[in-house]
Amino acid sequence: MIDLRNVEKTYYSNAGDIHALKKTNLHINAGEIFGIIGLSGAGKSTLIRCINMLEVPTGGQVFVDGQELTAMNNQELRKARQNIGMIFQHFNLLASRTVYDNIAFPLEIQGISQSEIKKRVQPLLELVQLQDRGDYYPSQLSGGQKQRVGIARALASDPKVLLCDEATSALDPQTTKSILDLLKDINKRLNLTIVMITHQMEVVKEVCDRVAVIENGEIIEEGSMIDVFTDP
Ligand code: ADP
Ligand code: ADP
Repeated sequence: MIDLRNVEKTYYSNAGDIHALKKTNLHINAGEIFGIIGLSGAGKSTLIRCINMLEVPTGGQVFVDGQELTAMNNQELRKARQNIGMIFQHFNLLASRTVYDNIAFPLEIQGISQSEIKKRVQPLLELVQLQDRGDYYPSQLSGGQKQRVGIARALASDPKVLLCDEATSALDPQTTKSILDLLKDINKRLNLTIVMITHQMEVVKEVCDRVAVIENGEIIEEGSMIDVFTDP
């Protein structure tokens, strides 16, 4: 589903170039929950942002669902990105829009009609159990509820891939558990491929099928949870 071939990202600066991601090869299967774990500054965020080209790699190729994103023009990329949802540590909701309108936002940008949007948003509100919160504003929600809005918005375009950038790092342990349960549920129910980066070991242990460990811009270990976390 996702293939990174010799993907590199260097941030150039006068103070010295930063090789945030060194030649990286990674294959993520359709339908799996894949975790990328590492310390702060290891390159996790750079890596996950290369998957949807939020960061443009300085070398290598990115393939998602059989399409090479690194060979696309902006218009093709916009279209391909509809297949890749993303959620964030600080939710990134629009404060001036209701829950309903936050979820509808990506669909409005795509020029989809209000009646079609309504047909799509309603089941998403139900999926994340916020059917009675559509008219609330983000400021009126708990952290866990905000992240559920983030998840619903990310799923609005019916993507095959969901990228999670430290999605539970701002949440307490109990809320983290409920968000992870929801992610597991939608992984199964929608056969969604999920990639998550986190510095929280408990999170990968709870939900991931396979995991990669990243250190100084390099994947130093990769495999099933048992392979990576059991001492030889
Ligand atoms: P992580 O997500 O694991 O904390 P990042 O991918 O954010 O790691 O960062 C990897 C390295 O790249 C760090 O050294 C960071 O300082 C550097 N970096 C990240 N983004 C930028 C940027 N926009 N400009 C320059 N350096 C950056
Ligand atoms: P406007 O304020 O311009 O009338 P809105 O953005 O409030 O438009 O709503 C756009 C569409 O979404 C309308 O068809 C409205 O009925 C519907 N809608 C808005 N909020 C909700 C909600 N909480 N539940 C269901 N439908 C909603």
